[in-house]
Amino acid sequence: MRFEVSKVLDAIEARLTTDPALARAVVDLSEIVRYADLDGGRPASSVRLGLVVDALSRYLTEENVPVYVVAQRGLLSDTDLTSNERMVIRRWADDGKVEVVPQLDDRIYEVAELLGLPVLTRTRGEQFRSRRPWVDEPGRLLAAIAGDGGQPVLVSRVGRGDPAKQIERTPTGERLLTRVWSCPESNCTSFGSGGDPDSPFADMRTFTSPVAQPPPALRAGAPSCPRHGAKLRDAGPRPAVEVLSVRIDGVVRQRFVVSTEEPVVVGRAPEGGKGIMLGQWLTEDARKWISRGHVKLILREDGSLLAQDVSTNGTGIRPGGSEDDDERVTLNRNESRPLAANDVVELYGGVNVGRSKLWATGGLTQPGSVMGEAPTMALRKFNR
Ligand SMILES: [Zn+2]
Repeated sequence: MRFEVSKVLDAIEARLTTDPALARAVVDLSEIVRYADLDGGRPASSVRLGLVVDALSRYLTEENVPVYVVAQRGLLSDTDLTSNERMVIRRWADDGKVEVVPQLDDRIYEVAELLGLPVLTRTRGEQFRSRRPWVDEPGRLLAAIAGDGGQPVLVSRVGRGDPAKQIERTPTGERLLTRVWSCPESNCTSFGSGGDPDSPFADMRTFTSPVAQPPPALRAGAPSCPRHGAKLRDAGPRPAVEVLSVRIDGVVRQRFVVSTEEPVVVGRAPEGGKGIMLGQWLTEDARKWISRGHVKLILREDGSLLAQDVSTNGTGIRPGGSEDDDERVTLNRNESRPLAANDVVELYGGVNVGRSKLWATGGLTQPGSVMGEAPTMALRKFNR
């Protein structure tokens, strides 16, 4: 049985992010590609990132969980990977989808600390314990190991772990993420500005939006580019963001970011392919009720989050998530209302949007896989 590695890599690509608002865990790609025991295959395989991404989805019981991938530059020329795999990883690096660093040092631990994320690793972080004592806290280091039935599972390196526990960003992390940073290297994907828009090469590269810039590395206390090592320049305040979730019939389907710069429309199929498209998850009745663009979420400079109805049938607000229909407020076309911390937007019965913090778990025991038609057994055969 053959399956297409390139299809799996495409599916994995959709889960890669260095956006502090969306990443759910940090991984060292150079470590993970060598988990040969997971599939009994070649010494190194990029497809194992997919196995680990799937394990994270199951751990969080949530769909479409993105990971922050760091790779040591040497991996780009590691001949244990196929030339196709090396090419794909190089493209991911060029597009800013994964972070490539000359030396790994403790970058994954730094990212995990600044952003308040778990590290997916089989090590115990011994060499960093003095500087980062949190490596000994339950749930901070999660090891991907072969579970019963061949599917990899994540196991906390310390204690029993608690997927529901929210790890907080450090104050330093919060402070760094209030600014936009600029790298002096002209081709910096992560901290670049896109260069001269009139240059014939202006559209040759993708640049990370200032709203989604990864956390700088700290070198002797100075914010620095993790890739180029150069000191970063403070380029001004960063737009504020709020992370929201779409939850349908008790299952979190997708997280998304609303920034003060960019409102987001949620609906069955918002115009122009922008916004959050719900169509694929809706029942026939919900599809009929929910407009293509249904509700617009707006984050204002004063920090308040607004829901504005843009639909044909109106948008419900359930104050504090109340199940009581008498408390439900209906917004008619173009009406808007600020959302209190626990308010839930209702597009149709069971089709909700709210702040991601509201829902500690994704509510899905068998989330979709990036491996597609390639179960672990097929992978095993393919690799041999
Ligand atoms: Zn740079």
